[in-house]
Amino acid sequence: MRFIGPHVSIKDNIALSAERAHELGATGFAIFTKNQRIWSAPALKESDAEAFRENLEKYGFSPSSVLPHAGYLINPATPDPVLREKSLNLFIDEARRTASLGLNVINIHPGAYKEGEASDGMKRSAGMIDEVLREVDGIKIAIENTAGAGTILGSTFEELDKILSYTIQKDRVGFTLDTAHLFGAGYNVKEHAGKILDDFVSRFGGEKLLGMHLNDSKVPLSSHKDRHESIGLGLIGKEAFLTIVRHRATENIPLILETPDETRWKEEIRLLSEF
Ligand SMILES: [Zn+2]
Ligand SMILES: [Zn+2]
Repeated sequence: MRFIGPHVSIKDNIALSAERAHELGATGFAIFTKNQRIWSAPALKESDAEAFRENLEKYGFSPSSVLPHAGYLINPATPDPVLREKSLNLFIDEARRTASLGLNVINIHPGAYKEGEASDGMKRSAGMIDEVLREVDGIKIAIENTAGAGTILGSTFEELDKILSYTIQKDRVGFTLDTAHLFGAGYNVKEHAGKILDDFVSRFGGEKLLGMHLNDSKVPLSSHKDRHESIGLGLIGKEAFLTIVRHRATENIPLILETPDETRWKEEIRLLSEF
């Protein structure tokens, strides 16, 4: 089974997200657990969490088909103690929401180290991941690969491996691979999608791939930029995505569209589900 679907809105009520995904023909989806632009949001009401869990069941989504994305304000690698405290609190809050919603994994960007040594940033990032795992039972954290501009961490398998090596609860840490970020970081997904996934599996093991973000790219290979494009309309091209959804590593994990044109989602889901 392949769990394919877009990152849908939680507007008005988080429970509506499953319905929105279902209407598009999705078999999986992603959400933010709260408004991602603000540091603090009202607590998740148990009645809303319950409605979310009920709707998952109603529309036939298993919890493992849903991949919440932690908000972009969180920087796990920050050297700034004030920002670190705020990031940690928000990350814990979002991880708790994930668990309350009955979900198993939350996706996080490893962050930017801003100054000093990259390895210190990786240690800070790993440290925050461990703190969240200590605070919140029953979930795993998926570190998302990045296109890697400036001091942004996590653009290579080597770096992802290093961050993992600095964590303590390694069995609760895995990865999300974003195809547009891979391409931006210099992994030629267009030509070698299968080989890149094979390399991931031989380095980390298939069980470490907790999800994928399937995005075509507006910007060239190794640009270190992150500009998503609709599937088949960008520089990666349709064929690579068909290779990815056929690969054994993408079985039973959320394969999420973060593509810019919502009017194409239905067609993108159909295309990727057809193989
Ligand atoms: Zn992504
Ligand atoms: Zn991106």
